[in-house]
Amino acid sequence: MDEDVQRLEDQRERLYQQLSAFGDFRLGTISETHTRCGKKNCTCADKSHPGHIRYLWNATRLGKSMAQHLRLGPEMEQVFGQIEEGHRFQKWYREALELNEKICRLRPVPEVEDKKGITALKKKLLRRFLLKRREKLKA
Ligand SMILES: [Zn+2]
Repeated sequence: MDEDVQRLEDQRERLYQQLSAFGDFRLGTISETHTRCGKKNCTCADKSHPGHIRYLWNATRLGKSMAQHLRLGPEMEQVFGQIEEGHRFQKWYREALELNEKICRLRPVPEVEDKKGITALKKKLLRRFLLKRREKLKA
């Protein structure tokens, strides 16, 4: 095997070993919002009061937004940690993708001896390619 591929595969193996060490993770951000509780005798009933501060975790995935109220204290600290872990996972994912793309490009193409096999393969691939292109036009 190509020495470069071997070296990259070793690197990938080491990277994959890190995967099980990840703790709970999520993505998103923590923001604050101001709300009025609605109680007539509360300080927030005064118009000059900015309202009670509430902390929110927000994330958007596939166009769908998610939110969770967070209590200031251990809960918020935990979520900060989970988001940091999420960023570490994103970094891990980018490294894994980059490594795999390098390996993919260096991997030798399998030899096909039989000529009939090659012709059938070309037809199959062409069908697949045309089908993909048709799907793209529909979208
Ligand atoms: Zn209030």
